[in-house]
Amino acid sequence: MNLVQLTDSAYHLRAGSNAGLLVQDGRALLVDTGLDRDAARRILKHVAALNVALAGVLITHAHADHFGGAGEIKRRTGVPVLAPAFEAAVIENPALEPVYLFAGAQPTRELQGKFILAQPCQLDGLLPPGHQEVFGFEIDVIPAPGHAHNQVMVGWPGQRVCFAADAYFPPEVLDKYGIPFYVDIDQTLATLGSLPALPYSLFAQGHGDAYDRNSLEEVLDYNVRRIEMIRQLVYDALPAPADDSQVLKRVADTMELSIQQPAIYYLTRTTIHACLNSLRQAGRVDIALDANRLLWRRA
Ligand SMILES: [Zn+2]
Repeated sequence: MNLVQLTDSAYHLRAGSNAGLLVQDGRALLVDTGLDRDAARRILKHVAALNVALAGVLITHAHADHFGGAGEIKRRTGVPVLAPAFEAAVIENPALEPVYLFAGAQPTRELQGKFILAQPCQLDGLLPPGHQEVFGFEIDVIPAPGHAHNQVMVGWPGQRVCFAADAYFPPEVLDKYGIPFYVDIDQTLATLGSLPALPYSLFAQGHGDAYDRNSLEEVLDYNVRRIEMIRQLVYDALPAPADDSQVLKRVADTMELSIQQPAIYYLTRTTIHACLNSLRQAGRVDIALDANRLLWRRA
C-alpha cells in the first residue's frame, strides 16, 4: 500500500482497493479501510508515520474491498466508524452480501471468500448525505448510487478533493473486468453525469490513480460508453425470449469474456439483472413465465 500525497493535507492510500486520508491539526479522517486485517494494519502504519491521531472512519459503500478492514481498525484504535444507511446493514452483517448474490439463500461456499464475505464492523452511527462537520472535519457527503445501492462519495471542500469511491472506474479496470458490478444502471449513469458539476479539483476513486478535472471527463465518458454498450448487448441478446443465464452467456460471449469463478459469475449476473431492469423501466423489455421458465423478451 502506497501513500500518495494529493494536496497539502489529503492523501490517497493506494492498493488493490484505495482508501483516502484527510489530515488537519494533527488528526486524520479515514475514508474506507481496504479489504482485510492486513490492509487495516498497513493503513494504521501510514497514519502513525504521518504522526497524526486517527479521529474516525467513514465507509463509502458495503463492498468487502472497501470496508473489510474496518473491524480491525476499530479493534486496534477504538475510533468511531460511520457509514450510509442501507450500506450500514451489510457492514454490520457482512453475510448479507453473499446472501443477496445467491438470491437470498444461504450462499454456496464459493461466495464466502474474503472478496465477498468481509469481517463485520459494528458502526457508531449513520453517515447522512449533505454538507456537515464530522469528527471536526468540514465535508460533503455526496450520494453516488448505482454501483452499490447507497454508495456515497466524500468531498473535502477545504482541499478541493473528492474521494469518489467506486462511482467510476479507470479505463484499465473496466477493460480488465469487462462487465463491472452495478446494481442500478440508471442511477449509475446519473451519478456519472453528476460528477463534472462538483466543485472539486481532484477526484480520488477506489481503484487506480486519482484524476484532475480535465482528465476525469474522458474517464467518465469511457464509463458511460461501457455501461451503455453492456445494456445494449443485453437487449441484443433477446432476439427471442431468454432467461437471465442465457442473456448472461450471450453478452459474455460477445465480449469474449471467459468467467472462471462462480463468485464472478454471480457478480456479473447482478449487472445483467440491473441492465434488464433498466431496459424494462424504459419499456424496451418485459418478463413472462413460460413452462416454469422466467423469460425476458423485447416489448
Ligand atoms: Zn465497490
